[in-house]
Amino acid sequence: MRIGIGYDVHRLIENRKLILGGVEIPFHLGLLGHSDADVLTHAICDALLGAIAMGDIGTHFPDTDPTYKGMDSQVFLRKVNAMVKEQGYVIENIDSTVVAQRPKLTPYIQQIRSVLAKTLEISETKLSVKATTSEGLGIVGEEKAIVAQAIASIIKY
Ligand code: MG
Repeated sequence: MRIGIGYDVHRLIENRKLILGGVEIPFHLGLLGHSDADVLTHAICDALLGAIAMGDIGTHFPDTDPTYKGMDSQVFLRKVNAMVKEQGYVIENIDSTVVAQRPKLTPYIQQIRSVLAKTLEISETKLSVKATTSEGLGIVGEEKAIVAQAIASIIKY
């Protein structure tokens, strides 16, 4: 068994969609980034890449590459999952936390799990998504950013 961690932060700005875990969430702000800036999916990608010790999302999908402009991050996650499989591993489980002051994410958690599990071709029982606020403190509390953390466990098949 191997494990990996992932961490990501993206700035919240106007005139961008808010995409978390492949789900568009209604909010007056969205995340800034070269791709769709899906901070949760990016953290999960980095957790999986960490578990196989094969760099990070920035090395595989550089934000200087016009190919990835506006890219659906589920494409990144699908490619990372293929890399995990190529190394002879399958996902045992993934746990994650999104830290956002607003919007309230509870109504979307199940849909996010469903989308991510489908992209990764795993059971939803292997994929946990949690949400918390930062109690109004710091960049998250001031609604300037959303942070995501993830941990992945993979096993040889
Ligand atoms: Mg990112």
